[in-house]
Amino acid sequence: MSYDENNIFAKILRDEIPCSKVYEDDTTLAFMDIMPQAPGHTLVIPKEPAETILELSPEAASDLINKVQMVAQAVKTAMKADGITLFQLNGAAAGQTVPHIHFHVLPGSILGARTHASEMGDPAELEKVAARIRAEL
Ligand code: 5GP
Repeated sequence: MSYDENNIFAKILRDEIPCSKVYEDDTTLAFMDIMPQAPGHTLVIPKEPAETILELSPEAASDLINKVQMVAQAVKTAMKADGITLFQLNGAAAGQTVPHIHFHVLPGSILGARTHASEMGDPAELEKVAARIRAEL
């Protein structure tokens, strides 16, 4: 599978389009999902270019899961969530819509939630939630 350098997350990584950042280091970026399925819905992506987890190097995969754990803890605390759902889709056939591997960190349960939200989040609200999560990191 060839990586599309112009996918929306590649553009976010190059700062070509804005996002509400929660966390960034040399290998990882975490930011608010623009169409949150619940308040606090956060995405965690590696900087290594890979469409799905199957193309990601083992080193990047293991680093990514550590960052996902760290962000999930912060989301849980910031959103006062009793539970956190992690999910990660690989390939269009699995429902993946953005071809750069990403983990969803979702406060609460995915059961009963739509697979994809259909409403854009209010940017000011997303930024407010991002600040709450950043304060826990
Ligand atoms: P997937 O279906 O590929 O697992 O999830 C892609 C997610 O990316 C969706 O939840 C969608 O709301 C989110 N998304 C799509 N475009 C953008 C964007 O431009 N900015 C941000 N922050 N999230 C996006």
